[in-house]
Amino acid sequence: AHLARIDAVDEKVHAFLHIDREGALAQARAVDAKREAGEKLGPLAGVPLALKDIFTTQDMPTTVGSKILEGWIPPYDATLTRKLRAADVVILGKTNMDEFAMGSSTENSAYGPTGNPWDLTRIPGGSGGGSAAALASFEAPLAIGTDTGGSIRQPAAVTGTVGVKPTYGGVSRYGMVAFSSSLDQGGPCARTVLDAALLHEAIGGHDPMDSTSIDAPVPPVVEAARNGSVEGMRVGVVKQFSGEGYQAGVVQRFNESVELLKSLGATVVELDCPSFDLALSAYYLIAPSECSSNLARFDAMRYGLRVGDDGTRSAEDVTALTREAGFGDEVKRRIILGTYALSSGYYDAYYGSAQKVRTLITREFEKAFEQVDVIVSPTTPTTAFPIGERADDPMAMYLADLCTIPVNLAGNSAMSLPCGLAPEDGLPVGLQIIAPAMKDDRLYKVGAAVE
Ligand code: GLN
Repeated sequence: AHLARIDAVDEKVHAFLHIDREGALAQARAVDAKREAGEKLGPLAGVPLALKDIFTTQDMPTTVGSKILEGWIPPYDATLTRKLRAADVVILGKTNMDEFAMGSSTENSAYGPTGNPWDLTRIPGGSGGGSAAALASFEAPLAIGTDTGGSIRQPAAVTGTVGVKPTYGGVSRYGMVAFSSSLDQGGPCARTVLDAALLHEAIGGHDPMDSTSIDAPVPPVVEAARNGSVEGMRVGVVKQFSGEGYQAGVVQRFNESVELLKSLGATVVELDCPSFDLALSAYYLIAPSECSSNLARFDAMRYGLRVGDDGTRSAEDVTALTREAGFGDEVKRRIILGTYALSSGYYDAYYGSAQKVRTLITREFEKAFEQVDVIVSPTTPTTAFPIGERADDPMAMYLADLCTIPVNLAGNSAMSLPCGLAPEDGLPVGLQIIAPAMKDDRLYKVGAAVE
């Protein structure tokens, strides 16, 4: 049924970069056979899923939305891919994304944009716009995203779906193509809080193949999602997540959510976190710095594309020609920014200062969580904007992650879930819930109460 739905709508939505028809059907039949034989089934047996094209898959291409990896079939499965298979999930295919997960609209994909199923002329968010659009268009009931600065939560917000950025280290990064290793985090996307929890549990947990993976059990997310409540909880509202640039309808729906929390028995506490105003600036030094280092591996020798290798050119020239042809504008912009920020003489002024700001933000979160159990905010300042509107204005594009980026810098967990439609344009608004590291279960407890 999901393959038929994909056939019917994906030409317009363009959520998928690769559809694995044969593989999906074979996997579904294998689940049936197991069931008939009375064998033990995985926790998500037979449930179809759309996988962001940033996770390696042994049987499918992995492009990361880039021409530089066009045609590359990885020799191994990511840990997350392996866990999905172990849970007996049916992987339908790989979803579209901003190149190397850099963007907030999926317009930076080398394979063309994805449409927002609510209005195909608008962006589905990014970088995981393909996964969010697959859910919103009912092409898949579950999807996987990655969130470096908001790429799970912002697409969830603008498509009216649920997305969770687990605690940093909560889901393995092994086999997840690196953008900014200290921020990147894979996580679940779904249409309901409970579905997201079931997926979270299946993909989470310690992985010795990822040195930053946390060696602790997955927080009790499913139990929390089945027992939604905010009774007696303290909920923080941060002053810095409001003001100029926030759409009126987004603010209205957010305020209504706060009233709902109060009516359900929560106490609301106002918080002041002044360093949050510097989060975007710090992020756009740290993320490009790490990206410039991580993307050095795409040298035309190891993977994918190779341009100009005609026997007359040096290896350096082939590398340069390949990177020029294979990377898009936003990726090049970030490599240049990051290389500059890390260069000797500038390192302390840029990268070093950004790391200090990161510490301040982490401390402000720690102080805040002495006073409250969770923090809430709008997920993103506006609803889905038209495709093309911010494409030539990187600064305007970067603002989409104003409320999500501080969470990545601190390594906390956060969820976005729908909280109504903005009256002025009828488009979905996202409510963000933020919890301390390894308290991901609180997101689900609160999310299930207000869903
Ligand atoms: N939009 C942000 C960026 O472009 C975040 C992307 C992400 O979370 N992968 O870097």
